Amino acid sequence: MTEHLYYHDSFLYEFDARVVELSAMESRTAVALDQTAFYPTSGGQVFDTGVIVSGNDKVRVNEVIEGDDGTILHLVEGAANLQKGSAVHGQIDVERRRDHMQQHSGQHVLSAAFVRLFNMPTVSFHMGADSCSIDLDTKGLTSVQVEAAETLANDVVLQDRPVGVRFVTQEEAQGLGLRKIPPVERDRLRLIDIREFDLTACGGTHVASTGQIGSILLRKTEKVKQGWRVEFVCGKRAVATARRDYAMLAEGAGLCSSHIWDVPQQIRKLQEESRSWRKASEQVLQEVAELYAERMLAGSESRIVTKTFADRDLAFIKLLAQRLTRQSSGVTALLASTGGQPALVFAQSAGQPNDMGALMKEALARLGGRGGGSKDMAQGGPAKVEGIEAELNAIAAKLSSAA
Ligand SMILES: [Zn+2]
Repeated sequence: MTEHLYYHDSFLYEFDARVVELSAMESRTAVALDQTAFYPTSGGQVFDTGVIVSGNDKVRVNEVIEGDDGTILHLVEGAANLQKGSAVHGQIDVERRRDHMQQHSGQHVLSAAFVRLFNMPTVSFHMGADSCSIDLDTKGLTSVQVEAAETLANDVVLQDRPVGVRFVTQEEAQGLGLRKIPPVERDRLRLIDIREFDLTACGGTHVASTGQIGSILLRKTEKVKQGWRVEFVCGKRAVATARRDYAMLAEGAGLCSSHIWDVPQQIRKLQEESRSWRKASEQVLQEVAELYAERMLAGSESRIVTKTFADRDLAFIKLLAQRLTRQSSGVTALLASTGGQPALVFAQSAGQPNDMGALMKEALARLGGRGGGSKDMAQGGPAKVEGIEAELNAIAAKLSSAA
């Protein structure tokens, strides 16, 4: 079993060790050392990264895992000159470790705040690349509760309470009123003690006093299977997240020419405007279709009308087809739109012998594309614009010679 140096000092970023085992793990090599400051993924906290230096060689540690027997495996790409027994020097990535300590310690404070205020225990903790989350065992969670927990958590940060580490036996732990005792049977428990605020068993890396957490910012909450999930960020991540949020809000405010605080009001106003514009534009389109239909029928000897529109969409030619065929009897409309995605609409007044759905299928068999419909109304999407007009004319000629 590896000696876990991080159990005793979270701020130990460099250490000397000896290689005790090398083994292949898929494309990587797993390096076991006699002692390490590299934290392996466990208890919701993710692993450290860094390098292992041996003489003039340096290998990058890109994952760290812990085996069942407590052996810590450093996964590296290519083990260079590492050999069993080699003396090595380990260096962990400090920024990443500091960030993890802030998130993880912040989680302890936040979980304790939810217990103290609302008796909501934390059932799981997740540390992601962007944000962290805890799942609370509760049926409900209000925004007032979220804000109260955030306030208490940040008060504890400001109080800069010492965070102590000590080891006790299972038996000793029973009488201490721990927030959480791990289910696994271990002879000795590692306790994290945030003075007069929270006492819990944990194997992770933590700050030395709560002030080092910097800040705790709660974000999204959502109902999950086991209760409520609360997303949060601590320390420098909280600043980076607030910075990103501000940039997005400021961009939104710029687009609305308003102050960032007025953005929701501006969006509501735009939504209302857009609704009334849509309504007005639908009204106008109806009227345009009506006028088009009148003009097309007035200017045509035949009751079969064809037209290709380069500047109208499918919605409009459908509207026009309805106007042409529903107000007069004996009309057949063969319409196309070629402006954007090419579209065809064939329609006829009720009570005629032809089948628009069948005609559409025949036309698309020649033009390529898909579509179909009923006896009186069909629509389709030809694969290309070329040949559409000729096809409409050919169908019109065939229908009028049959009539
Ligand atoms: Zn912890």
